[in-house]
Amino acid sequence: MATMSTPEVSPPKVSPSGFSLSPPDAEERKHLEADLTRAEAEVLLHHGTEAAFCGGLLDQKDTGVYCCRLCALPLFQHRTKFESGTGWPSFWAPIDEAHVRAVKDVSYGMVRIETRCARCDSHQGHVFPDGPPPTRLRYCINSVSLEFVADGAPLRDPLARGDNRAMAPLGSG
Ligand SMILES: [Zn+2]
Repeated sequence: MATMSTPEVSPPKVSPSGFSLSPPDAEERKHLEADLTRAEAEVLLHHGTEAAFCGGLLDQKDTGVYCCRLCALPLFQHRTKFESGTGWPSFWAPIDEAHVRAVKDVSYGMVRIETRCARCDSHQGHVFPDGPPPTRLRYCINSVSLEFVADGAPLRDPLARGDNRAMAPLGSG
């Protein structure tokens, strides 16, 4: 019997900087999650928050990109990182607006804007309207949600989406 409903197949999504934003399928997700430490899973999958001033990337000052720890999509870049004094890595803009998704978060009796990786939907941190110019935004991100890739080093590309080819037009520096 014919059905009137159309299958929910979204077209392949590509960000302005050229990265595939198609979410990992169930099998890919299982592989990605198996690679996480318990602390990483707590934050990325269960919306935890690491202790302030403990994150491994807080004092990272080298040039390079900060990628999603789960799916390796580049989310931030060294040139927008700043010292916020909060104890968490802070950035005033994503590397590509399409790579970071904002979601209203009303947990703990507060209204905050949660940020998630736009590709794998993992929890990253929150964005607040008290950052420096030019955006006046402060993306407050957990170190365990990110992995740093120094300039010139290849991206991890665990989903085999050609992330390294996409990175070329983004440039460095
Ligand atoms: Zn991701």
